[in-house]
Amino acid sequence: MADAPILIDVKKCVGCGKCVKGCGFGALSMADAPGVNKLGKVAEVDPAACKACFACVPACPFKAISQVKAEVNGTENIESYKDIWVFAEQTDGRVAEVVLELLTKARELKAQRGDGCKVCAVILGSGLPPSVDSELASYGADKIYKVDAPELSEYEANVYVDALSQLVVKHKPEVILAGATAIGRAFFARVAVRVRTGLTADCTALKVENTLNKDTDVMQMLLHQTRPAFGGNIMATIMTPNHRPQMATVRPKVFKKSEVDSASAAKCETIAEALKLIAPMTKIVKREPFADGVDIAAAEILVAGGRGLKKAENFAQLQRLAELLGGEVAASRAAVDAGWTGIPRQVGQTGRTVAPRIYLCFGISGAIQHLEGIRGADTIIAVNNDPNAPIFGVADLGIVGDALEIIPALIKELEK
Ligand SMILES: Cc1cc2nc3c(=O)[nH]c(=O)nc-3n(C[C@H](O)[C@H](O)[C@H](O)COP(=O)(O)OP(=O)(O)OC[C@H]3O[C@@H](n4cnc5c(N)ncnc54)[C@H](O)[C@@H]3O)c2cc1C
Ligand code: SF4
Ligand code: SF4
Repeated sequence: MADAPILIDVKKCVGCGKCVKGCGFGALSMADAPGVNKLGKVAEVDPAACKACFACVPACPFKAISQVKAEVNGTENIESYKDIWVFAEQTDGRVAEVVLELLTKARELKAQRGDGCKVCAVILGSGLPPSVDSELASYGADKIYKVDAPELSEYEANVYVDALSQLVVKHKPEVILAGATAIGRAFFARVAVRVRTGLTADCTALKVENTLNKDTDVMQMLLHQTRPAFGGNIMATIMTPNHRPQMATVRPKVFKKSEVDSASAAKCETIAEALKLIAPMTKIVKREPFADGVDIAAAEILVAGGRGLKKAENFAQLQRLAELLGGEVAASRAAVDAGWTGIPRQVGQTGRTVAPRIYLCFGISGAIQHLEGIRGADTIIAVNNDPNAPIFGVADLGIVGDALEIIPALIKELEK
C-alpha cells in the first residue's frame, strides 16, 4: 500500500469489516487472508479510490489503521511545482469579488518571484458562461483551468475537493489562494489534507521572499503568510517550506482589486479540463436567502455601534442615521452578543472584513479583533467618550464625546 495515505496493520486487523462501512468512497474492501486472524480476512485499501479523508482511522476499533505521515509520503521534487493559482469561486456563473482581489495580489506575488511563473485561475462549475473567462483575464489570469461538469452544478465540498485535488496533482502549482468565504473555508482545508500540505487560513498579508529553509539550508522563494494569532494579539508569519503547494485563504476586502490592460487580458488562455469526478452525495432542493440578507462588506458607508451605546433602543438609532447617510448598520461583537443586532452585521476577526469609504463608529473601543475587520476602510471616524480608547489610534477623525448625544444631534442636522 505504498501510495495510499493510510496504513493497515495486518497484525492488528481482526477482519471485522467495520472500516469498510466507515469509508464513504468505497476504497476499502476485505481480502481473504487465511490464518492471519480468526476470520481469515484483512482490510485492504484501493489507493486510486482513497480520498484521504481518514474517516477509517477512528472507525477501526482495533487501531489497525493509521494515517501515513506527511514525511513518509513527502513532497518530492518541490522544484517541479510552479505557478500561482487562485481558486475562482463562482455562484450561478458570477465570480466572487474576492477572486478578483486575489488575482490582483497573485500578480504582485508573481512580480516578487520574478521567475516568469504564471497566474492561473481555477474555476469549477456547470454551464459556466464565457463571461467568467473574460472577467478572470481582465484581473490578470494568464491561464484559466476550467472544469465544467454536471457534478459541479451545485457546490458540494466532496466534489470540489476531488476536482481541485486532481488538478493539483496533475499541474503542481507552487501556491494556491482562495477566499476565506463559506465555500473556501469549507473545502480548501480538505484539499490541503488530501494533497498533504500546509494551509494558512485568514491571511491578512502575503508576500514572496527569498528565504532560508532551515531544514535543508537552501534558499527558497517562499510565501510568507501573515495572520492574527493568539486571539488577535500578535501577528504570525507562517511558511510552508517542505511541502507544496503553499496554500492560503484570505478574507474578502483584505486586498484591493485592480484590472490589467486589455492587451494583457487578451493573452489569457483557457484550458478545459475533463476530470472523472465522484458523484455528489447531496441534492439542493431549495435555496432560501437569509431574512436579514444584508451584505455589509459591499456597503460604501457603514455606521457601526458598540457596547458604549448601552442598550438596544440607543443602538436602533443607528438605523436612521445609516438611512440618512445612504449606508448600512454594522456592529462590534459586544453589540451582537448583547442581541442588539444580528451576526451578519458583526465586523472583525470573527465577523466580516469591510472596506467602506467611510466607517463611522460610536462607542466602540477598538479592540484588535475589531480593528482586524476595518483595515481596508478609507476613512474611519470614531466617537468615544474615552480619549484613550484604542480606536483613536486608527481613526482619521476622532470625536471625544457622548455618542448618545451626538447620534440624535447628527440625525437632526441631516434631517434638516
Ligand atoms: C477570538 C476573539 C475574536 C473576537 N472577534 C471579534 C470581532 O470579530 N469583532 C469584534 O468587534 N470583537 C471581537 N472580539 C471581542 C473584542 O475583543 C472586544 O471585546 C469587542 O470588540 C468589544 O466591543 P466594543 O468595542 O463594542 O465594547 P467595549 O470594548 O466595551 O467598548 C465600549 C466603548 O464605548 C465607549 N463608551 C462608553 N460609553 C460611551 C458613550 N456614551 N459615548 C461614547 N463612547 C462610549 C467606551 O469608552 C469604550 O471604549 C473578539 C474577541 C476574541 C477573543
Ligand atoms: S475495522 Fe480495523 S480491524 Fe476491522 S477490518 Fe477494518 S482495519 Fe481490520
Ligand atoms: S482514508 Fe477515507 S477514503 Fe481512504 S480508505 Fe479511509 S475512509 Fe476510505
